[in-house]
Amino acid sequence: MPIDATQPYDDDNIFAKILRGEIPSTRVYEDEWAYAFEDIAPQAAVHTLVIPKGKYVSWDDFSQRASDAEIAGFVRAVGKVARDKGLVEPGYRLLANLGRHGGQEVPHLHVHVFGGEPLGRMIAK
Ligand code: 5GP
Repeated sequence: MPIDATQPYDDDNIFAKILRGEIPSTRVYEDEWAYAFEDIAPQAAVHTLVIPKGKYVSWDDFSQRASDAEIAGFVRAVGKVARDKGLVEPGYRLLANLGRHGGQEVPHLHVHVFGGEPLGRMIAK
């Protein structure tokens, strides 16, 4: 079920548990600002999730409340994950779903990194 992106941060959401190591995940990258891991149900040959370490529900929440250092650290981490996976050439796609219309299901900001094959149309309804 898509979430309401204006809801308060829920410490028990699944990605909070992954960050705390309470639920296993396949780690791809980690630094002070971000954690990256493989999506449990990949929708492309490469499907990696990058999440900030801070408690942010959505892109909207993050872009309003996160510090400049958190934003810079997170954006750099997303770029590094894609680069390290060799995706820059031939290319990749980033996606951040937000709220009901965006189809966001997990209420901790995450950027999907898709690649490893041609990705087709930008949006399917
Ligand atoms: P959303 O629809 O919120 O943008 O995407 C949530 C993503 O999280 C989905 O692609 C889903 O497969 C992934 N996901 C949900 N639960 C887990 C989990 O427990 N572990 C991992 N690695 N991915 C998960």
